[in-house]
Amino acid sequence: MDTLENLRAVAQDPYGYARNIQATESKPILGYFCSYTPEEIITAAGAIPFRLFGTREDISRADAHLQSYCCSLVRGGLEDALTGRLNFLKGAVFPHTCDSIQRLSDIWRLNAGMALHFDAVLPVKLTTESARNYMIAVLNDFRSELEQGLGVTISDEALYKANHTCNRIRELLGHIYAFRSQNPSQLKGSDIYYIMKAAMVMDREVLVEQLAHLWADLREKGGEAPPTDRKRVLLSGGICTLPDIYTLIEDAGGEVVWDDLCTGTRYFEGEVRETGDPVEAIAERYLSRMVCPAKHKGMSVRGEHLSRLVREQQIGGVIFLFLKFCEPHGFDYPYLKACMDRAGVPTLLLEVEEQLPAEGQLRTRFETFIDMLE
Ligand code: SF4
Ligand code: SF4
Repeated sequence: MDTLENLRAVAQDPYGYARNIQATESKPILGYFCSYTPEEIITAAGAIPFRLFGTREDISRADAHLQSYCCSLVRGGLEDALTGRLNFLKGAVFPHTCDSIQRLSDIWRLNAGMALHFDAVLPVKLTTESARNYMIAVLNDFRSELEQGLGVTISDEALYKANHTCNRIRELLGHIYAFRSQNPSQLKGSDIYYIMKAAMVMDREVLVEQLAHLWADLREKGGEAPPTDRKRVLLSGGICTLPDIYTLIEDAGGEVVWDDLCTGTRYFEGEVRETGDPVEAIAERYLSRMVCPAKHKGMSVRGEHLSRLVREQQIGGVIFLFLKFCEPHGFDYPYLKACMDRAGVPTLLLEVEEQLPAEGQLRTRFETFIDMLE
């Protein structure tokens, strides 16, 4: 199996991958839902941070605990926990993000039956000195709680190593994204999806090797492929769990060449300083990277960021992709759309649950949208 096939296989069956790890290795696996989870500290503790993406199964048991107007990520994650599909997890980590995740944390602690449960109540406003100090204190507390829960010591050396590994992973993902943006015909959009999904669940020590191989293979393919006549599209939103969306956009004459997703570029953006206090360095990355709408760094930063991505990546149109009932992204949408309107960039709004709407209906919407693009 080549590297890309291997990453695809992990992304298509992440629970199978986790069960295999559980059967063959002693590394504990900790679930998480949000990219504000300090993966470096989990990795330094000898554990595997494993992102949860909701479920493809029917949701019934979770409905006893959550209102039907919670997003499908939260409801689906709880469903999988309650039905035992996540019994490979030693525990889960909940950073302070949107209201739904915060409420899920309490319900999970009481009902999921996992040995370990961690809350990391990170600040929401990220621009002040007190936020910086508070962020560092919370991350240090998380380090101590993890040590206690897993019965390990997390040394500064282990943290330096984990920071380096995670930086290298981010760097490689950035290279792969840039390669695809310049050579969209040489790497499918759905493969970018699979690479990102695998990157968020795999043992990071193994992942970094595999991404290095993949990047070497892509460089060998090399060169700029002749430009295609597909229209360049950017996906903006929270989590994307739908590989089919890339193919449908390609079939309609477009090409997703970049994104502003928390399962995309916001996951690998920024670098952790590799000198000085390793926990402070992790905090500084959270403070300096682009925020999602559940955090705050100013009234216009997200719009400016999206406008810059559109310019830099020569984007013809933006598709906003949110899970239904996602309040942070729903509230952000009118302002971001207004930014794009002012810049003359056409946009399309797609609110989905764990499944895409009927294919024919979506195909027509994409074709109509992509026909409009320059
Ligand atoms: S959009 Fe923000 S709050 Fe939601 S999962 Fe992503 S990083 Fe976390
Ligand atoms: S940010 Fe949105 S999609 Fe993510 S967990 Fe919260 S409500 Fe759900």
